This record gives sequence, C-alpha cells and structure tokens, in this order.
Amino acid sequence: MTAELPAPAPSVNPETREFWAATARGRLLLKRCLDCGSVIWYPRAICPECASLRTEWFEASGRGRVYSYTLNHRGEGAYSGAEPYVLAYVELDEGPRLMTNVVEVGAGLAVGLPVEVVFHDTAEGTALPRFRPAAPAS
Ligand SMILES: [Zn+2]
Repeated sequence: MTAELPAPAPSVNPETREFWAATARGRLLLKRCLDCGSVIWYPRAICPECASLRTEWFEASGRGRVYSYTLNHRGEGAYSGAEPYVLAYVELDEGPRLMTNVVEVGAGLAVGLPVEVVFHDTAEGTALPRFRPAAPAS
C-alpha cells in the first residue's frame, strides 16, 4: 500500500473551525447533544436528531473499526499518482462513521479491523484524521 498519501487542506467554516484546530494538535473532537445525548457527525451547530442548539465538544478515543472500504486505483486531483490507496468508512467507538483513509495496512485489511487515528499534517494549520491498524489494547 502507498506509504504517503497527499494531505490537501480541508475547507474550514465556523462550525468546523474547532474540529480542525484540534486535529493540528493531534486530537479528534466530536460533538454531543446536551438534550438527547446523540453523538453528532459531521460537526455542526444543530443536533440532527432533535434540532437542539445545545451541543458540546468532547475528545473521541480515536479508536474504531473498519465499517467498509475500497481499494482505489484511480485517484483524482491531489490523489492522482498516489494509487492504490484505501478509501474507507471507519465506525468510531463513539458511533459515528467517518469517510477516511486506512493507512499503514497490508493484507490484514478487512471489515471489522480495529483501527486507531493518525493525523497527517496539511501544513496549513490542520491535519487529516486517518486510521491505521490499532495496536493491541494494553
Ligand atoms: Zn439532540
């Protein structure tokens, strides 16, 4: 699998600024609804379950499992030339499913594989959360 993927900077808006600032410090933040308890993904001001505006940030464990994946052989834009690479949904232990890349993985790639977050610096004050096979729990 490709060792280095490009890390193009995301587009940041007022609802995601805190999320992206945290990635640059190696922290994965999620939002939780203070009224219904839902964990909210993607980051936004309003709870998609109950429309509450009372939400708070909390730090995710950074651990989850591969929910689905594909091996992409046709990268476009910044990813052209980086093939093959893994495009995946990772289901976090907290519940949300993130579209992301699985890196540092070989033949062990499978649905259900335990993974942990790593951050790839964009050099523009943000980092992309990606996932690698998790070290065994200590
Ligand atoms: Zn809610």
